[in-house]
Amino acid sequence: SKYTREDILSIVEDEGIEFIYLQFTDIFGVMKNVAITVEELNNVLEEGIIFDGSAIDGFVRIEESDMRLKPDLNTFTIHPWRGNFGREARIICDVYTSDGEPFEGDPRYILKKACREAKNMGYDLFIGPECEFFLFHTDEQGKPTLNTHDEAGYFDLAPSDLGENARRDIIMNLKKMGFEIEASHHEVAPGQHEIDFKQDEALNAADKIMTLKTIIRVVAKNHGLHATFMPKPVFGISGSGMHINQSLMKNGENMFYDDLDRFKLSKTAYYYIGGILKHAKALCAITNPTVNSYKRLVSGYEAPVYIAWSAKNRSPLIRIPSNTGKNTRLELRSPDPSCNPYLSLAVILKAGLDGIKNKIEPPLPIDKNIYEMTDDERAACGIESLPQSLEEALYCIERDEVIREALGDHVYNRFVEAKKIEWEEYRNRITPWEIEKYLTKF
Ligand code: GLN
Ligand code: MG
Ligand code: MG
Ligand code: MG
Repeated sequence: SKYTREDILSIVEDEGIEFIYLQFTDIFGVMKNVAITVEELNNVLEEGIIFDGSAIDGFVRIEESDMRLKPDLNTFTIHPWRGNFGREARIICDVYTSDGEPFEGDPRYILKKACREAKNMGYDLFIGPECEFFLFHTDEQGKPTLNTHDEAGYFDLAPSDLGENARRDIIMNLKKMGFEIEASHHEVAPGQHEIDFKQDEALNAADKIMTLKTIIRVVAKNHGLHATFMPKPVFGISGSGMHINQSLMKNGENMFYDDLDRFKLSKTAYYYIGGILKHAKALCAITNPTVNSYKRLVSGYEAPVYIAWSAKNRSPLIRIPSNTGKNTRLELRSPDPSCNPYLSLAVILKAGLDGIKNKIEPPLPIDKNIYEMTDDERAACGIESLPQSLEEALYCIERDEVIREALGDHVYNRFVEAKKIEWEEYRNRITPWEIEKYLTKF
């Protein structure tokens, strides 16, 4: 591994680090932090640290609340945005029960389990996410607004715009933290941005997504802006997705690539696509986990609505980008950045592996614009739709054994229970749209 305990202690000493943030992620994708001072570090690296699991959403009940965080030494990173006074670093932790077992409710553990299964089949999953987000202005009280002041669009260079400056600063910080940034650009909507980092092994990629989101938030705040990963903050303009580019590798070789195939795809790639399409609806409960997620999955904004794949156009759920050879990848376009990246990668991987294990043939690629087809044409091609609401996605995950098994009982039960409450809360609300539409009419 990258660092030993001694390495970390000496870096911390040389760099004058005063605080170490121990981080982990709850099942809803929210990062949790415990800060320790440098004096406690040696002890924590040796024994971990006890915390109250019942205080974390979706973890455990009061009666079984003692949990232990064990730092994953490889994730040690200095927080570069802090000045020299009170410098800080972070370490991502695994969660263990008081019996010393890996905790079944730890999303990082769920992803590790899925990766271990892939490894046993001879594969390593590599992931390149494309995280989109909005930068909004804050008001006099520092509260986020929905104003962007920026009229820019896709790939525009908004000169000395606040958002542009913030994005540069975000990138500089990410680079200092060891990220290799593949692309960063203004997205289609005003105030909308995207940052992509180079493909990495799935667990590292999930850690990086959590780190990326944290840094975007912190740096935006330092620029007086509010960063949001809410999938569809504004009606009538694009929402924010988090496309997931994926490749299965074996000893450095891309297992999705086959030079002889029409689309340069291997049999393995086809089965993997078959698996993802088969489980596409249930996956949404995890990759699109909020009420708001489904307001993004509508036509007209480059977000997927229909379950299909293509090597040519961008309207389907899965696209095969044109890079081939070592870079052959498939791009899943449904996930949005409100998802828990650990759980999302775990269920996506398990869906793909199910395709490989059971030799699930994908349907033919659809190269037409699916949005322009009639309902009958779509039906004739066997093209179904993604769930249109969180409720429908929950209905689908309840009926998908493979995806439930990927999550394990603990995460599955807590997740679905909480999301049903979330849906119910929303369903009972009377929205401004209804008032406008009906209050005077009836
Ligand atoms: N914002 C779009 C989405 O919701 C994606 C746009 C793009 O990257 N081409 O998925
Ligand atoms: Mg992109
Ligand atoms: Mg994009
Ligand atoms: Mg993309």
